[in-house]
Amino acid sequence: MTDRPHVLLLGGTSDARRLAAELDAAGSGLRVTSSLAGRVADPRLPAGEVRIGGFGGVPGLVDWLREHRVAAIVDATHPFAAVMSRNAALAAAETGTPLLALRRPAWTPGPGDRWHEVGSPAEAAALLTELGRRVFVTTGRGELAAFTASPELWYLIRSVDPPEPADLPPHHELLLARGPFDLAAERETLRRHRIDVLLTKNSGGPATAPKLLAAREAGIPVVLRRRPATPPGVPEVPDVPDALRWLDRLPSR
Ligand code: NAP
Repeated sequence: MTDRPHVLLLGGTSDARRLAAELDAAGSGLRVTSSLAGRVADPRLPAGEVRIGGFGGVPGLVDWLREHRVAAIVDATHPFAAVMSRNAALAAAETGTPLLALRRPAWTPGPGDRWHEVGSPAEAAALLTELGRRVFVTTGRGELAAFTASPELWYLIRSVDPPEPADLPPHHELLLARGPFDLAAERETLRRHRIDVLLTKNSGGPATAPKLLAAREAGIPVVLRRRPATPPGVPEVPDVPDALRWLDRLPSR
């Protein structure tokens, strides 16, 4: 079965796991390798073949694509995994490999939302001091120190694995948890910790959206990091069915 076109699926998201499951089902006609960065201690593994760990920048990825005779890449990484997405675009261009970005749509504000969109963690940190005192932080471990740079604020920090101790602000509580989180639980988290501002990233998708609804209901302002752009020239689809249609049309099939 080694003659099946080989697809590299850059993952770490629920959409990537859904796509891997669809492709792993009998009859897809493709060989799929899912790739994870290895950041999370106990990751949810996708169906089918999986490799874990960085490739070693663009040169390492180029070598990997050639060595494993990859016919197409689907970049289904998180919208904020901008380095991996850029590396994928450069390596795809260098090797002539078709590349698709699977990106769930960004969240958009509705009536009653008090959103403040920012371009950087430093901008977010500066704005927080104007908006509240007790911050619910759901930005993940990356750049946490920059997001929580105002020492006078108290932070409730939710992440899957514990952040580095050096990245933690002086006044905080850690909440180790993995989504999805439902609306009732998010309401309770805001209430119990007397949260008066929410700090998050515009990840999009349903699994972590209820916190935004809970913030709206409670009239709590939200500081939201704007997502980075997809590398230029890379076609983008919003969901798994569209990604499957793109793979169906691969010239190598
Ligand atoms: P990043 O900053 O864009 O990437 C940093 C480096 O990590 C890349 O240069 C690459 O190393 C390696 N890497 C990233 N994704 C990889 C993958 N799927 N397979 C193999 N290597 C990968 O990435 P990040 O923001 O730290 O995200 C890491 C992973 O966590 C991604 O898979 C992403 O989907 C997932 N994730 C990220 C977030 C977030 O908010 N950023 C949230 C949820 C899940 P080399 O240069 O050595 O190849």
